[in-house]
Amino acid sequence: MPHTQPQPPDPSAAVALLGIPYDANSSYLRGAADAPPRIREELFGESSNRWTEDGQDLGRPGIFYEAGDLRLPLAVEPAFAAIEEAVRAIVDTGQPLISLGGDHSITYPILRGCQSRYPDLTILHFDAHPDLYHELGGRYSHACPFARIMEERLARRLVQVGIRTLNGHQFDQAQRFGVEIFTMRRLQRLTLTELLASLRLEGSLYISFDLDVLDPAYAPGVSHFEPGGLSVRQVLDVLQGLRVPVVGVDLVEYNPIRDHHTQTAAVCGKLVKEFTALILRKGRPPREDWA
Ligand code: MN
Ligand code: MN
Repeated sequence: MPHTQPQPPDPSAAVALLGIPYDANSSYLRGAADAPPRIREELFGESSNRWTEDGQDLGRPGIFYEAGDLRLPLAVEPAFAAIEEAVRAIVDTGQPLISLGGDHSITYPILRGCQSRYPDLTILHFDAHPDLYHELGGRYSHACPFARIMEERLARRLVQVGIRTLNGHQFDQAQRFGVEIFTMRRLQRLTLTELLASLRLEGSLYISFDLDVLDPAYAPGVSHFEPGGLSVRQVLDVLQGLRVPVVGVDLVEYNPIRDHHTQTAAVCGKLVKEFTALILRKGRPPREDWA
């Protein structure tokens, strides 16, 4: 498989793919560090073709710059510094980034790496969990990244979708930071059109996608099973309904150790294809003349 080795930087490619194999801040189970090659196997393997649902062929030249997987130390601070630096090197060229793997703690250094190029981002955060703890066995836990991001004002808005584990402390944190939360209960009362309007998205968008936003029935390969979540189809409908330019995406918390065969890996591969389609559309709607 030719795509697992890093290539020389290619800012002319439409999207950079960067593996971030780091799960040292997982509070419950490790495993998310093993995700990047599994996701690439689905994305570039033979079980599906390279076309997106809106009729774009991702197998044509010039789509992906494969930045490879970061080699990271276990210690948090040097690992985060390396993630931030690698992200900045890509994002500062203006190339959109999709990062593969890791636990959710890595979104904090990723957003630090985005800050100079995009000081005014909106984050659309898909997750069962708000990840707003001030600390949970440390300030860099995968339960804390959005507290750090909002403290450092690395985003103008944080909009969370699919939340179903809000507790008193995180409710207070959300109030303090002005986080906009669309819980699963609230989503159930909205049509897709109403939801898309309610998100009020404008300007450059960053998507942080924690696999456990999906119901465990669709994505069992996660560390924290949280029943009552979204279907893959509901997520794809939201992604295909977005009309703002997407400059970065992280796909986190895929834990291959918990997967059934490659069921969740296939979900990841599908999501990366549709994230890429979304980036390529640059805020335009999907083409009308495609099925
Ligand atoms: Mn999370
Ligand atoms: Mn989660």
